Amino acid sequence: MDRRDFFKTSFYLSAFAMVQLAGIGCSRQSGTTEPPSSLLSPLPYNQDSLEPYISSRTIEFHYGKHHQGYAANTLKLIAGTNLAKLPLKEIIQKSHEIKELVSTYNNAAQLFNHNFYWQCMKPNGGGKPQGKILQAIEQSFGSFDAFAKTFSESAASQFGSGWTWLVKDGNQLKVINTSNADTPIIMGMVPLLTLDVWEHAYYLDYQNRRADYIRGFMEHLVNWEFAGKNLELAG
Ligand code: MN
Repeated sequence: MDRRDFFKTSFYLSAFAMVQLAGIGCSRQSGTTEPPSSLLSPLPYNQDSLEPYISSRTIEFHYGKHHQGYAANTLKLIAGTNLAKLPLKEIIQKSHEIKELVSTYNNAAQLFNHNFYWQCMKPNGGGKPQGKILQAIEQSFGSFDAFAKTFSESAASQFGSGWTWLVKDGNQLKVINTSNADTPIIMGMVPLLTLDVWEHAYYLDYQNRRADYIRGFMEHLVNWEFAGKNLELAG
């Protein structure tokens, strides 16, 4: 290949790449198909933004490998089925407790839970919220401290893999745990806040010290604006 051919090839390759990108952009805008990438929420901050409470390396694996893996598996499992064009929540509801769809349910629910989890944190978060979410917590738990104790103890006591949640159930706020991929949206509850207590969420940073991971989350990471927004949307 001489120099001119080289440039010609490069030009065609770049043009091809741009057409591909434009194609993805168009299908997202037109809404005719559920664009695969829309199932995976972007990380709402930089990979190292939650340090030192959650390291860049943990997020590299947790978001980059585990979460992306759930997204890729979900896409593979729904491809060519009647679930393929549904929103993620419906994929979860329609595959729940269907024996042949157990992998679809597990991957889709984990994908939803992780999309939600990353938004539950922010740099310089944590501590006590303000406004309506604080009032609702005080109404249901007696005080913010009583809520924080219940949430932390619940997260520490989850046996095996799972999640701890603050949910709205009817008119009450509650703390619940779910095992493995299970998610409050199949129980008719509205999730407000979650903490991933699978070992992959904290083991690189804390090894067996799950209580330290929980403390870091409660005191320095919770995005209470996100939880407050979820409460508002729940009506
Ligand atoms: Mn996880």
